[in-house]
Amino acid sequence: MADITLAALSKVYPGGTRALDAVDLTVADGEFFALLGPSGCGKTTLLRTLAGLETATAGRVTIGGTDVTDLPPGRRDVAMVFQDYALFPHMTVTDNIAYPLRIRKVPAGRRRAKATETAGALGLADHLTRRPDQLSGGQQQRVALARAMACHPRAFLFDEPLSNLDARMRLEARTFLKRLQRELGVTTVFVTHDQAEALALADRIAVMEHGRIRQLGPPTEVFRRP
Ligand code: ADP
Ligand code: ADP
Repeated sequence: MADITLAALSKVYPGGTRALDAVDLTVADGEFFALLGPSGCGKTTLLRTLAGLETATAGRVTIGGTDVTDLPPGRRDVAMVFQDYALFPHMTVTDNIAYPLRIRKVPAGRRRAKATETAGALGLADHLTRRPDQLSGGQQQRVALARAMACHPRAFLFDEPLSNLDARMRLEARTFLKRLQRELGVTTVFVTHDQAEALALADRIAVMEHGRIRQLGPPTEVFRRP
């Protein structure tokens, strides 16, 4: 079980910006959950605080029943995929995917096997020795996903991972992400500012505004016109 609970979660940045204002939220195990809202409303801060990349000013974060509020990113068992994919430019596809396993001190042979298997599952088998600059945007996105999957995290945290793709690839990637998440059943929190994307992907949507959740529900409810 990897349900995610935020209890009265607040984040005030050193400059005084209250990016999260006592947010309460529960994401169910296996749910595909989208965070929507205008630029600056706190979506990325929420995701980064979940990942442990930012420390909460107040409140608690629980993942699968474990309070992770005081745990560093590496011990939260979640995988984040960034907008720019954050791949290592000098490393091959295999080495990029295997990197988190190297950090976890998985032996080289197992690392390579796992990376190759995950790359295969994402249709990257023919590109294992390429570097990121030799791949299309969509392929780079799949390498970032493979890297996130390879260590079997309890949750995926996506920060606008499709926004750098062109319109056609974005549609393909959407379908692909949805299928992947269904098959793996991994709890997923997905940040986007694109309503159509949230509508296509999410089981539920939270619309944020000024560090708070203004609306919460399934897409059909949230997008119903008043
Ligand atoms: P979103 O992802 O919805 O665009 P963010 O979480 O990035 O929103 O930002 C929420 C608020 O916090 C904004 O007002 C932003 O300017 C501010 N903010 C984000 N990161 C920092 C930071 N590192 N230091 C200070 N303020 C920040
Ligand atoms: P296996 O059970 O051998 O890992 P699957 O066909 O179930 O193979 O999975 C295909 C790929 O998806 C694997 O390479 C694995 O890395 C990844 N995967 C499977 N289950 C999970 C999970 N719970 N979390 C993250 N990744 C997973």
